[in-house]
Amino acid sequence: MRIVLVGPPGAGKGTQAAFLARNLSIPHISTGDLFRANISQGTELGKQAKAYMDAGNLVPDEVTIGMAKDRMDQPDAENGFLLDGFPRNVAQAKALDATLEAADMKLDAVLDLEVPEDEVVKRIAGRRICRNDSAHVFHVTYSPPKQEGVCDVCGGELYQRDDDSEGTVRTRLEVYHTQTEPIIDHYRAQGLVVTISALGKVDEVTDRAMAALR
Ligand code: ADP
Ligand code: ADP
Ligand code: ADP
Repeated sequence: MRIVLVGPPGAGKGTQAAFLARNLSIPHISTGDLFRANISQGTELGKQAKAYMDAGNLVPDEVTIGMAKDRMDQPDAENGFLLDGFPRNVAQAKALDATLEAADMKLDAVLDLEVPEDEVVKRIAGRRICRNDSAHVFHVTYSPPKQEGVCDVCGGELYQRDDDSEGTVRTRLEVYHTQTEPIIDHYRAQGLVVTISALGKVDEVTDRAMAALR
């Protein structure tokens, strides 16, 4: 299956993507995680992306689309993938459409996670991620690690993302509404959108998502 996950920052895309990817046996591809890995490795791509991310703005399409395509070209993505955080504007959605069409492939679904803004703000404020791998995600009250500040998965140090600060979150929500939400209409026109509520416990949301994808 080829699936796109969409939803505001803090909706739980990464959290759900980890379970869905495992259930569906497809790789979880998060452009945010790819950027953060590049930043921690000090690559040229990471250097290009960092200032945009810290400000809460989108990294330019030239950089992002190439990185996403390279990842989708890896052998493990041949028979499907779950995209988390890409596409994030209509230009990226059109680039993805063109890439898939050229390979005679298509998306199966666009899963839209709906969460009220006040809940998203709470989820982001308490989010803590692992230094070793930003896909290891916790929340100080909603899903606390067994030992404070320590990743359950790998023992790494937990920290708060630079862009999860209050001021930057406001910018990111604005960017979501103006630039990312329009992709939902783009895909609705293709009949691909399924919307679910992302409120409730993590496993309840996963069950809802699996039911919606069937
Ligand atoms: P996104 O990838 O959409 O930005 P994350 O998956 O990183 O979102 O989740 C944001 C924060 O909310 C994390 O701290 C995560 O632990 C927490 N979270 C995820 N799903 C839920 C849920 N169903 N209820 C409460 N908190 C959640
Ligand atoms: P969240 O799910 O909390 O919004 P992500 O980890 O998906 O966070 O993204 C963090 C930041 O990485 C974004 O604010 C943006 O600067 C950058 N980014 C991630 N994906 C993209 C993309 N597809 N296009 C442009 N910038 C992106
Ligand atoms: P309250 O008792 O204050 O109404 P809840 O305990 O129902 O709050 O949960 C508040 C938030 O925490 C909700 O978004 C809920 O989805 C989330 N939540 C509850 N339990 C978990 C959990 N085990 N993991 C992640 N999020 C959780």
